[in-house]
Amino acid sequence: MCQRCAIDVVSNRSPASPSRRTALGKLGAISLLGLPGPIRTAYAKPPPKPDNALSPDDAIERLMVGNKRYISGETLDRDFSANRAALVRGQNPYACILSCADSRVSPELCFDEERGDLFVTRVAGNYVTNDLLASLEYGVAVLHASVILVLGHTRCGAVSAAVNSFENQTQFPGHIQTVITALLPAVRSAAATSHTGTLAEAATLENIRQNVARLAEATPILSSAVRDNHLKVIGGIYDLGTGRVDLLS
Ligand SMILES: [Zn+2]
Repeated sequence: MCQRCAIDVVSNRSPASPSRRTALGKLGAISLLGLPGPIRTAYAKPPPKPDNALSPDDAIERLMVGNKRYISGETLDRDFSANRAALVRGQNPYACILSCADSRVSPELCFDEERGDLFVTRVAGNYVTNDLLASLEYGVAVLHASVILVLGHTRCGAVSAAVNSFENQTQFPGHIQTVITALLPAVRSAAATSHTGTLAEAATLENIRQNVARLAEATPILSSAVRDNHLKVIGGIYDLGTGRVDLLS
């Protein structure tokens, strides 16, 4: 991420409480970016989307209410030109999503949101890599998103391929095996545990849970934000057939 992007983004963050500023200092986000001047200036400016300054619980509620609109087909009318000017100044998404890259899963659509609302990272199999972790840390520490949702989905081809590799020692060409290797711990764990449904279904849920735990425990930024109640990391599964997102307990 270029420094100019960081300046633009930070300069339009939502107003933070004193405790929040202290927490951010602890997180090291300011020293990480080396931008103390712009950040100080930032608190005097309104965020481009004031409604996106939400607590973790309110952010989760907004996601689920949006998903209900998507399921029912009663989505909000969108004027994509309306917020364009405001978003040139910066962004303050209220939620980060770690989604599978599957083309049938579209976070903005399934939560009935628009540009500037969701900070979306995607990889086939929705698992954490160092690059994605860095992006999610940025979404939390700098953009002030208050929830991270690890979003798996039914009939995930990546998980099915990992199950195939587990059961048949299948090797995949090119760099595809990288994805399979990353998903195998969840498949092995699911296979070692009694479960209902297919192994792929159980591994899909286990993969979500493992990556929720990894993010919640990721030091130094995310684990600190969780501890200070600025962040919740949750898991959910998107049903390709119904469009419904169910949160995992
Ligand atoms: Zn998938």
